[in-house]
Amino acid sequence: MSKDKREKNSSEEQSGQETHRFDISALSKKEIIDRSRKFSKQYCVGNGADFRLKDYDTKAGVEFSAEDKPLVKEALEIGVEALAALQDILYAQDRWSLLVIFQAMDAAGKDGAIKHVMSGVNPQGCQVSSFKSPSNEELDHDFLWRCQKHLPERGRIGIFNRSYYEEVLVVRVHEAILRAQKLPEKLVTKDIWEERFKDIRNFEKYLTRNGTIVIKIFLNVSKKEQKKRFIQRVDDPDKNWKFSAADAKERGYWKDYMYAYEELIRNTSTEKSPWYIVPADNKSFARIVIASAIIHALDEMELEYPKVSKEKLAELHEIKASLLAEE
Ligand code: ATP
Ligand code: MG
Repeated sequence: MSKDKREKNSSEEQSGQETHRFDISALSKKEIIDRSRKFSKQYCVGNGADFRLKDYDTKAGVEFSAEDKPLVKEALEIGVEALAALQDILYAQDRWSLLVIFQAMDAAGKDGAIKHVMSGVNPQGCQVSSFKSPSNEELDHDFLWRCQKHLPERGRIGIFNRSYYEEVLVVRVHEAILRAQKLPEKLVTKDIWEERFKDIRNFEKYLTRNGTIVIKIFLNVSKKEQKKRFIQRVDDPDKNWKFSAADAKERGYWKDYMYAYEELIRNTSTEKSPWYIVPADNKSFARIVIASAIIHALDEMELEYPKVSKEKLAELHEIKASLLAEE
């Protein structure tokens, strides 16, 4: 970005004149990080004690016209670039790790969001794990077991596409699934959800204390938008594979799911491991919110490239000198 461009921008802002559209590419990396922090904050629940789902919109707060498309695309590209730059330091420093959990109703856009938001990241520094119905082997263990095996190593970003939160979602909505979990009968009481919330809170606290920061993304799609996307999945032959009768059946439990989401967010959103309630009716907007939330979480780590000692630096220069001296 040229300095001239930035100065032009700020003088226009000061004079209040709007001679052309806001030029997002003129922002410095620090400005992008600052904006990401402020932007993502409005969707961040923090301490969830007073959380109510109805306070959060499924729609972006702004209307986008066709004209805005390139700007939205550019905003995401810039966010992805900033995220990749931070991830490079995370990897080099090899101390912290970040776990990003995605939860949502079907067709809310989890897969697309993961694909686009992580598109600029070095694949070596990122691990995506999807959690479907548990296998027999998984059901022979406690509910966190299968997820623990996929936690990100130091220096890495781990993405969970669904997670242990299904244990207080689909398992809560369908009592039969809980019954099939092979738990000792006397442990299945009316307190089980409260107990699971507590276990999850403690688990995330434990991870945080060990250098793995956990953030949780709820893609908040409306029932109306889900219907539209389901119909598209039937009408578009390339999308047929994405749709099943099971998805349509789960839609019938919408209210129960919303209740379960509200309860779990209220009980597991904390300052250190917050939930983000991302308006998901507009996919592009949702992706920008997600990129911002990840940038913010990485920025909080105050990452730095490892410092090289004076001795090591002198050694590197000696090596360089001998390389240059080669015939
Ligand atoms: P897609 O966007 O492709 O539909 P998906 O994440 O919905 O992706 P599916 O294979 O359709 O993947 O569904 C996985 C299913 O597994 C979900 O319905 C989810 O609720 C269920 N599931 C995940 N974890 C558990 C669990 N612990 N117990 C029971 N069911 C689970
Ligand atoms: Mg599905």
